[in-house]
Amino acid sequence: MGQTIGVLATRQVAVGVVEGDALAGEIGVFPDPGANPDALRSMTGDAIAELIGQQVLEAARARQIDNVGVGFPGVIRNGIVEESPNLQQIKGFAFATSLSGVLARGGLKASVLILNDADAIAAGVAATRGHLEKLIRIWYLGDGVGFGRYPQTEGVWEGGHMVVSLDAKENFCGCGGCGHLEGIVGHRAMRLRFLDMEPEEVFAAAREGDVRCSTFVKRWHRALAAASASSIHLDGPGKFFMMGPGAQYVDLGLIGQYIHEMVKMSPLQGSLFETITSSTDLAIIGAAVNARRAAGAE
Ligand SMILES: [Zn+2]
Repeated sequence: MGQTIGVLATRQVAVGVVEGDALAGEIGVFPDPGANPDALRSMTGDAIAELIGQQVLEAARARQIDNVGVGFPGVIRNGIVEESPNLQQIKGFAFATSLSGVLARGGLKASVLILNDADAIAAGVAATRGHLEKLIRIWYLGDGVGFGRYPQTEGVWEGGHMVVSLDAKENFCGCGGCGHLEGIVGHRAMRLRFLDMEPEEVFAAAREGDVRCSTFVKRWHRALAAASASSIHLDGPGKFFMMGPGAQYVDLGLIGQYIHEMVKMSPLQGSLFETITSSTDLAIIGAAVNARRAAGAE
């Protein structure tokens, strides 16, 4: 099987060569992780495409590369970034065209797929666990809440903004929407809710029996279960993986209990939940796998 390059571009750019369903070598991170952990925030779309293109050309040296996949946060359709909440400056940017141009000028003729970063992670999970024939969903729990689905399907799939509460006071979501999942389980939203406590202190206090905190921790799990239950009612049962900084707070027993309360129809039973610690390697592998599939290479 030929080689593909996978890229994850979130706060920085991480690049890896992928052979089959595994990394072939080290992941490169740019700019240097010590330099600026949030480098992409101050860059224009063309500057980001140039940075990614140069690193891809560097990684591609002396290799036969046919496809390049780039996982990027936001709503991405047909190579265009329609919305990217944390990188507002590139809304509307024709990412695939710009990156293809950089690669062509460097002498690399490869097909380019830009996809949502959470969809890339979902594909990475499917590929590395031999689940390429199954439905895989992931929740990435960070400041924002990413929802990824494999196989990648037409649509928007902003699962992190599913409405899980009718309470008009639930308005901590980064997008400004009312009652959203991210407004309850997102890291930034938790800091806005508990102005005097960090999220890890909230979960620790809940374990010590603090009533306000343990009430919230139950609500946190109910929200995640509710969004998953909605997905199950639309898309069927299956495996859900949770990752990102917030995955450390997940109590799988509690999620299972709430899902059991929320999903009652017998054909929809049997979903499984699991937490995963890594994600960058999975995103790179998944971006590459989806790029190959999009190009009809497998
Ligand atoms: Zn929202």
